[in-house]
Amino acid sequence: MSGSDDNAGSAATPLTERLAARIARDGPISVAQYMDACLHDPDHGYYRGQAAIGQAGDFITAPEISQIFGELIGLWCVLVWRGMGSPSKLRLIEIGPGRGTLMRDALRAARLVPEFRAALSVELVESNRVLQAAQQETLAGESIPMRWRGDLAPGDGPVILIGNEFLDTLSIDQWVLHDGAWRIRSVGLDREGALTFVAEEASAAVPPSMPPDLIPKEGCIFESRGRPFAELVTAIKKLGAPVAGLLIDYGHTRSGFGDTLQAIGAHRYVDPLHSPGKADLSAQVDFAAFADAARAEGLAVDGPLTQGELLGRLGIIERASRLMAMNPTLAASIEASVARLLAPGGMGTRFHAVGIRSVDISPLPALEPVETDRRAT
Ligand code: SAH
Repeated sequence: MSGSDDNAGSAATPLTERLAARIARDGPISVAQYMDACLHDPDHGYYRGQAAIGQAGDFITAPEISQIFGELIGLWCVLVWRGMGSPSKLRLIEIGPGRGTLMRDALRAARLVPEFRAALSVELVESNRVLQAAQQETLAGESIPMRWRGDLAPGDGPVILIGNEFLDTLSIDQWVLHDGAWRIRSVGLDREGALTFVAEEASAAVPPSMPPDLIPKEGCIFESRGRPFAELVTAIKKLGAPVAGLLIDYGHTRSGFGDTLQAIGAHRYVDPLHSPGKADLSAQVDFAAFADAARAEGLAVDGPLTQGELLGRLGIIERASRLMAMNPTLAASIEASVARLLAPGGMGTRFHAVGIRSVDISPLPALEPVETDRRAT
């Protein structure tokens, strides 16, 4: 998620008071509990009522930067469907669809393959009422059957799942090495009653999912999404068969140490403790941990690779050139938005894509390991 560095502009919110009262009564809450409350509290959670995404929201995402992003994912879905043997019925599910832009662009690109569109029924899994209304508006003219759900619903036919910037919303536990012992980083109260980070006793001597070759130093933080990842991949596996998924997000491909919890409000980074429920809270995705969770559930994993690699393989340059030739007056802005999606050191390399699939279908298109990865192993 893109924002600029600034800690100013945050203010106490209704959730600040509610959390402070809860902590005063029951003691500190873990970072995961704090994140869950900030994002999903029924009255004040960020993903319950905020418009969130887009130029006027808090942060901008790839489908909002360029229509080409969703179009290429639509064409990726066509390739996967063909790899499944072009079944006559396919559930296309998007988790965390934002403003519905990615789905709109994907379905438009898929007009090139009418048999694919004829097979489709679309499901949008969304917890945010405001965004669900935005999705319904964006997709209003679409002739494909479409339904909205609050959760991934089990079934038995073929399924393709896509999710852009969904994994980063899943809550993380933070473990901190404090006086030589692993503790759970938590949110407590300081002397003035304000929210502050504290270290609480942990239920295990070491973070269960920490790779044994990592050597921790005093004060370092290890982040883990053990349970949310396990629950998600279990739900994905139950969606149907065969199942194929593409998840794109910001994050790293090897597990390591670091505090990546971040809050963004109005395109600026803010202190994660200062405006609970009013700022978007997320943390980098550990793609190695996600891949492990998927394999543990009996799914195969393709990738991860960088967003730049994925879009390059799906033909972003060719598509951009064609679009620029068709719209000469927009050429400069098309070029700029594509450059932003591919930027080395920006979205092109900080974002990664990972594929997961039933073991009995062939590897997913455009996700083969890159040459340099092969040399490194
Ligand atoms: N994919 C979109 C939006 C990314 S933001 C884009 O790229 O623009 C994260 C999205 O996930 C939002 O739509 C948010 O409302 C949704 N979301 C967050 N937690 C969710 C949950 N537990 N269940 C369903 N949707 C969720």
